[in-house]
Amino acid sequence: MLEDIRQISNPFVRAITSGFFLSTLVTIPATAAIFLVNLKNESAYKFIFYASIASATVGAMGGLAAGKSKSETSKSPLVEAGGGIDWKDWRKFVVDRKVKESESITSFYLKPVDGGMIPNFTPGQFLTIQLDIPEQSKPVIRTYSLSDYIESTSHYRLSIKREPAPPDTIAPAGIASNFMHDHVHESSVILAKPPAGKFVLDVNSSQPAVLISNGVGITPMISMAKAAGLLNPQRHIWFLHGARDGSLHAFRDEVNAIAVSNPNLHIVYCYSRPSLTDEGNYQHKGYVDVDLIKNVVAPEMQNFYGSTDAEYFLCGSPSFMDSLRDGLREWGVADNKVLFESFAKTKPKKVEQAQGLTQEHVSIEVVFSKSGKTLSWNPKDGTILEFAEANDIYPDHSCRVGVCGTCMCKIPEGDVDYEETPTASVDRGSVLICISKPKTARVVLDI
Ligand SMILES: Cc1cc2nc3c(=O)[nH]c(=O)nc-3n(C[C@H](O)[C@H](O)[C@H](O)COP(=O)(O)OP(=O)(O)OC[C@H]3O[C@@H](n4cnc5c(N)ncnc54)[C@H](O)[C@@H]3O)c2cc1C
Repeated sequence: MLEDIRQISNPFVRAITSGFFLSTLVTIPATAAIFLVNLKNESAYKFIFYASIASATVGAMGGLAAGKSKSETSKSPLVEAGGGIDWKDWRKFVVDRKVKESESITSFYLKPVDGGMIPNFTPGQFLTIQLDIPEQSKPVIRTYSLSDYIESTSHYRLSIKREPAPPDTIAPAGIASNFMHDHVHESSVILAKPPAGKFVLDVNSSQPAVLISNGVGITPMISMAKAAGLLNPQRHIWFLHGARDGSLHAFRDEVNAIAVSNPNLHIVYCYSRPSLTDEGNYQHKGYVDVDLIKNVVAPEMQNFYGSTDAEYFLCGSPSFMDSLRDGLREWGVADNKVLFESFAKTKPKKVEQAQGLTQEHVSIEVVFSKSGKTLSWNPKDGTILEFAEANDIYPDHSCRVGVCGTCMCKIPEGDVDYEETPTASVDRGSVLICISKPKTARVVLDI
């Protein structure tokens, strides 16, 4: 019965139901007993009256308390609420379909195990997933862009590139991507947090957008191209993608199909080393670069739109994005018209000296309060996350580029300097340790 009462979410209805139930439970047997013994004096009726009021009050209070204990239970980190309305933390998803998209990229279609609703997302956003990988000492958390778009979201699609070991090193291959490719199959269950991220296409804008990607950087671009085609097909979108050859070009047929249904989607594929069988499947031999934008995209844009004032979205390898950002800036495109997402950490171009520090006190005291470690940080130790890991402290993290917010922690004392402006929202009194370094002589972190 208590469980049934707990199912009632409205506290008022829960209190009345519970009060009525307890009052009935007390009043009916008491009345029956009084009639059985034929006790007809006034105090007997008064007793029944007060007993029913008291039991109703106790029942109502119990009903309210049952609701409190229910909401405490739902604070558990794994939110499995049916309907998914209150999905804030990790939720179980089953792999409904696994589809090979190219030699290196495989897609995973995810549906919630609880069968509830999943929220729509803005094209360009990502999911953070958590994997239990047997040989890893703690769960592995990674971030993957949502690579599909439908108006009423019934599934999420992640498209993951297998990261091989870097050539000529003894470094291991990528942990999460290889696990996904080799050990996550249809019906496997993984945990995911709700869609997040600010690298998004404003679908309502009428300004032309140029989506530029290489390799697996194509994932958020497909979502953007599909959303624009469904929600704002008037808008001109250029889809520029670079691949080595057709075997590594994922989603070619899917993007071509979007262009068939939306004539305002203009495709330019560039293959750097096309094979003979790729003939007819690409427009340019070489790389996607600013000259291609100046010579091919800009004249088309002028023709269709009457101006070359556009928004540029970049996602791809670090060197690809660096050269395009520099090239667009040199060409005169304002920085606020160029949005980009990094999948991998690049070395900051300029190694900033921590502000306010002189050479005499480059050694900073960093207290990792939960781990009980007080350590001395020096600029060569890198970011706080790198410093923690080097000292056998392994805080949660994922993207390492200030995008996903997984590494956010409280900073009760001191301050940090960011290598780059965080993209994730940072709570007041908290910092992202993956892209920050200590700034003040003592820094205390809740790690
Ligand atoms: C916002 C965002 C969206 C993303 N979207 C996608 C997406 O849609 N698809 C996708 O495939 N990826 C995406 N990523 C990247 C993804 O999150 C992972 O970073 C990627 O899959 C690699 O993870 P991993 O665990 O396989 O590799 P990790 O184990 O993290 O290793 C990364 C690389 O470092 C190498 N390495 C490991 N150890 C060493 C060492 N000691 N020395 C030198 N090299 C080493 C590995 O071989 C590997 O190549 C996204 C990232 C972000 C931030």
